[in-house]
Amino acid sequence: MQLGDRHGRVATDLRVSLTDRCNLRCTYCMPADGLPWLPSEEALTDAEVVRVLTVAVERLGITKLRFTGGEPLLRPGLARIIAASKELRTADGRPPETSLTTNGLGLDKRLDDLVAAGLDRVNISLDSLDRATYARLSRRDRLPDVLTAIDAVIASPLRPIKINAVIMRGENEQAIAPLAQFCLERGLQLRFIEQMPLGPRHEWVRSAMVTQAEILDVLHQHHTLTPVDEPRGHAPAELWRVEPDTRPGIAHAGGTIGVIASVTHPFCAACDRSRITADGQVRTCLFSRTETDLRTILRSGGSDDDLAAAWVGAHASKPAGHGIDEPTFLPPLRTMSAIGG
Ligand code: SAM
Ligand code: SF4
Repeated sequence: MQLGDRHGRVATDLRVSLTDRCNLRCTYCMPADGLPWLPSEEALTDAEVVRVLTVAVERLGITKLRFTGGEPLLRPGLARIIAASKELRTADGRPPETSLTTNGLGLDKRLDDLVAAGLDRVNISLDSLDRATYARLSRRDRLPDVLTAIDAVIASPLRPIKINAVIMRGENEQAIAPLAQFCLERGLQLRFIEQMPLGPRHEWVRSAMVTQAEILDVLHQHHTLTPVDEPRGHAPAELWRVEPDTRPGIAHAGGTIGVIASVTHPFCAACDRSRITADGQVRTCLFSRTETDLRTILRSGGSDDDLAAAWVGAHASKPAGHGIDEPTFLPPLRTMSAIGG
């Protein structure tokens, strides 16, 4: 069985949200006061998560698992869940690829355990290198902790290391060039993400979103960029190669920078994702307004066949696109942190 849909796409990459809670309050993601968190009994237990992942990898063709949230480092069982995932085998007999999307807080202290558990890769979110701007955007003064985590990942075997940055008009456009320089100097792969209507309700306005074109304009002022013309496959980021620079003070060995232009250049036609929320709901798209409830199947004695059949059924009706540009578009009922970004 596989997670195919009517538009010829097959999902092989699963985003696994391990919690809806977070220790930051990024303005584009969460309200200042946080959200009504899921009661703990509604979240899947570690054993339930592992059962869902077993069905996904061993029956439904999932080959990549990305752990996210909320903040996945807040999940005490994270390393145990990763270790159990690495015991699974895909159809071609390999363990699934495992990665983590995190704000980085405390990652340095957990890194050895996560690597020992089998974590393959990490993406760290970082929207500014200016302490005051970072604190304003994330509503917490934690930039030094993120930088410590990045240093620790650089010293670890995890590669590639990706940095995710959301740019907001009037907030952190000045961060574009310094973030690029910081990442190029350290061999980190920077990905700018266009802000999507997935934050606190009614706060997204298209005109306030900094577009891919605007981000590239800024980068072109500092670097020689050429589009990477290798096939993009299912990767959401469009990539540009940055030529090495030898000028004193800004020298770097070159690299790639990406932009995930979900709004201005949607990549829905190539989407290979499925998602499971911390409370066990399958979502076929970030923007879905419907979910498929695996938790009830799990807790009412359903079999692995029942779980697989429900998941396959959800994907069969996956819409062709997210429809942000359609007049009838309505944002999803949950915000990014509750879906799992
Ligand atoms: N807490 C972790 C983190 O921040 O990396 C993982 C979860 S977070 C929801 C995953 C990614 O979604 C982050 O890179 C964050 O910047 C991004 N994100 C959150 N809200 C977004 C929005 N409204 N538009 C675009 N990206 C968003
Ligand atoms: Fe937390 Fe990540 Fe959302 Fe920021 S983007 S509030 S770190 S879940």
